Amino acid sequence: MGRAFVYVIIGGGVAAGYAAHEFVQAGVSSGELCIISEEPVAPYERPALSKGYLLPEAPARLPSFHCCVGTNGERLAPKWYNENGIELILGTRVKSADVRRKTLLTATGETISYKYLIVATGARVLKLFCFYILALKLEEFGVNTLDAPNVCYLRDVADADRLVDVMQSRSGGQAVVIGGGYIGMECAASLVINNLNVTMVFPEAQCMARLFTPKIAAFYEEFYQSKGVKFVKGTVLTSFDFNSDGKVCAVNLRDGSKLPADMVVVGIGIRPNTSLFEGQLTMEKGGIKVNGKMQSSNSSVYAIGDVAAFPVKIVGETRRLEHVDSSRRAARHVVSAIIVPEKTGEFDYLPFFYSRVFTLSWQFYGDNAGEVVHFGDFSGNTFGAYWMNKGHLVGSFLEGGTKEQYEALAQATRLKPKIEDLAELESQGLEYAFNVIQKPPSPRPAEVGGGSTLVLDKPLHVWHATTGVIVAASVAAFAYWYGRKRKRW
Ligand code: FAD
Repeated sequence: MGRAFVYVIIGGGVAAGYAAHEFVQAGVSSGELCIISEEPVAPYERPALSKGYLLPEAPARLPSFHCCVGTNGERLAPKWYNENGIELILGTRVKSADVRRKTLLTATGETISYKYLIVATGARVLKLFCFYILALKLEEFGVNTLDAPNVCYLRDVADADRLVDVMQSRSGGQAVVIGGGYIGMECAASLVINNLNVTMVFPEAQCMARLFTPKIAAFYEEFYQSKGVKFVKGTVLTSFDFNSDGKVCAVNLRDGSKLPADMVVVGIGIRPNTSLFEGQLTMEKGGIKVNGKMQSSNSSVYAIGDVAAFPVKIVGETRRLEHVDSSRRAARHVVSAIIVPEKTGEFDYLPFFYSRVFTLSWQFYGDNAGEVVHFGDFSGNTFGAYWMNKGHLVGSFLEGGTKEQYEALAQATRLKPKIEDLAELESQGLEYAFNVIQKPPSPRPAEVGGGSTLVLDKPLHVWHATTGVIVAASVAAFAYWYGRKRKRW
């Protein structure tokens, strides 16, 4: 028994949600599109899970953050899929795929065939056991570590619910966060505002080592320390101690130290979900290799989101990005590439990453390769950095910017201007971006606003201006305020 569709999307995450919306905009007919997702809920804005979802007061909960609210778009609740004739098969894993026959087999035993397939399976968290095999000594770890009730991961709503439960039941206790990337940083901030004492452990010399310069990292680490977060750097977890309930009660590190733990959050990286297509499609950078139309080595199969390795024109190489903006934009692009291929050019994407922690908010554009210069006031609210490679501006970073400033930075980075004088770039700072795009910055500070196109990137200048007052407020009061004042995804 089976069903046939013109378009099938495997995966029901961010990329699937945005692609569905685009299909409807393009006039797809009822019954033509099917989405199969392992998750039991309709596509949602995943970044909310490490931000609004973890707030102690007025936390974000579905259905409030279904796609596409992250870009101020329509909120696509399950009813929307139904009304638009989209078959949304939830809670169902695709078990195998045969790209030659154009069929998929689901875990419920159904065969689904397609004319065009979009793979949007995203990635899964690296559980400690895998990490251990990859990087640590084998004999000290057991698989049961994965199931310790107070060890949390964060990829989907089920993980987030578990994290919330554990966090709330350990209020006032000790939390150890493994990993210093953006999930680790965002979780650490959330744990603090939920009244946990947080220690972050990571092997690098600084947080956000893949993106931040040491100077930028130092700013965020100092800020975190001012909130009570402790950092243990240059070492890794080797084993856990368990109490008689099977819960982790301490974390042992390679440097010989032991950290007491009432809970552990693991944010050590992700693996793209490519296994359905290993041996069937060409892979690169750990993902499914696609061309500028997001088309894989099989002409009927496309891939988007975290699972896809695509040519990033502006940096001149194929990359796999694990960020929401690229998933959303690739989703829109792939629909156009399938429906009107002759009118669709190559995906021309400027990498864009962002994060928000506590009252801070940063955005990054382009590539962090080559020489770097910093600008702005690192003891104040707004500062940033430019990266120059082969004589051209290739990347830019800004903390605490306005909508207008972020847009200027994005536009300037996209233009890749030639840099004559690094010292001049450094002294001009943000002015440089406005000069490049030949637009004077507003004389008055712009209204508190979002990032380049995203409502979720709202920085908080107004708040910064009153830092002295707010700092005096309690963490709980802050969390309450934070939850009410901001978009929470
Ligand atoms: P996903 O959104 O992960 O969706 C993949 C879907 O495929 C899931 O529903 C999964 O269950 C399903 N699936 C997988 N395999 C199968 C199968 N065999 N059968 C059926 N279904 C399957 N990015 C930023 O830029 N800024 C942020 O602040 C930010 N915060 C984040 C916070 C968290 C907690 C997480 C986890 C990610 C965050 N990201 C952020 C990254 C961003 O969410 C991802 O880049 C984005 O979700 C990728 O979209 P996707 O559709 O490719 O994958």
